[in-house]
Amino acid sequence: MDLFEEIKSGGHEQVLFCSDAPSGLSAIIAIHSTRRGPALGGCRMWPYPSLDAAVNDVLKLSRAMTYKAAMAGLPLGGGKSVIIGDSRKDKTEPLMTAFAKHVGSLGGRYIVAEDVGVNTADMDLIHKVTPHVAGFKEASDDRGGPSSATALGVFHGMRACLEEAFGQASFKGLRVAIQGVGKVGYPLARLLHQEGARLVISDMNPELVAIGCRDFNADLLHPHEIYRVDCDIFAPCALGGILNERAISALSCKIVAGSANNQLENKQAALILQERGILYAPDYVINAGGLIHVAGGIQKDSKEFTDQKIKKIYDRLKEIFTRAKAEGRLTSDVADRLAEEQLGKC
Ligand code: NAD
Repeated sequence: MDLFEEIKSGGHEQVLFCSDAPSGLSAIIAIHSTRRGPALGGCRMWPYPSLDAAVNDVLKLSRAMTYKAAMAGLPLGGGKSVIIGDSRKDKTEPLMTAFAKHVGSLGGRYIVAEDVGVNTADMDLIHKVTPHVAGFKEASDDRGGPSSATALGVFHGMRACLEEAFGQASFKGLRVAIQGVGKVGYPLARLLHQEGARLVISDMNPELVAIGCRDFNADLLHPHEIYRVDCDIFAPCALGGILNERAISALSCKIVAGSANNQLENKQAALILQERGILYAPDYVINAGGLIHVAGGIQKDSKEFTDQKIKKIYDRLKEIFTRAKAEGRLTSDVADRLAEEQLGKC
């Protein structure tokens, strides 16, 4: 990979490779854009198979954050960070402290939050080292964490999807397949269960699956079976890049709507979904609830005000679906165009 070409073609401002030998830290922070404000984005800890895979992920994720913030009308830019390692084995206090120092060295150009493999307790630890962190416990007060807000946004977005695909917004009796019942998938399952949806869940972590089955009377599926299950909504709430040609050809659903970032492997995937008559809710639109929540915390907005903003994800998706139908375009293309219009304004 020609790294500089990759960085330039994606329009990224800065990429920082972070290391700390004593704690074993290997991390990358990517700042895609600070045009609208500081680059806010989660930190993901994942055992990437190669450095290329980690770089590729952080570049894509940080770019999506710029689009997400612009689409949600927030005064924020886009950034993201990845720590290479297995969060269950390799995450230690010295390692997170060393990472926090690197975040602090950027002087507020990048604000870190939680993502896969990283949680509120880690944000608390980072907050001891640098103020450039969002979603730590003290800041969350009675708001709950960003992940519950993300789940709430996905839930509102799903209502827009139901109206578009089925002409009604009730979850009662509908079957929803959730891939990944972690920090977002679990609260999403709770909301859907409360509304009378029937759930099918899968996760790589058997403990989380057991909890989900127990709490929501959900059916359990092996991770590779989730794609072919007969359902109304398929909700990817694990990792990105899962919607490739093979996975899409297996899908037996009417809607794809979930929290995972960068769900589409490539542009072609969006086209195949459309050809198969599956409605796709662009990921960075439907999963913006956590970012809106975190921005609300920074701006000291009330929880009620923030929740109202999260609810607007429903309106944004309705607009995207209406335009996509009227213009005969992909929902993901319409979303990109709207976000770029916002970015062009600053
Ligand atoms: P998490 O780590 O808490 O949960 C992800 C879950 O997915 C884990 O339990 C993991 O075991 C499971 N998983 C991984 N690969 C899987 C597979 N192939 N099949 C089934 N399960 C699998 O992460 P999270 O915070 O819940 O985030 C989930 C997704 O939503 C990520 O893509 C994240 O980037 C995105 N997202 C999260 C937030 C947030 O507020 N946490 C906001 C926006 C987007």
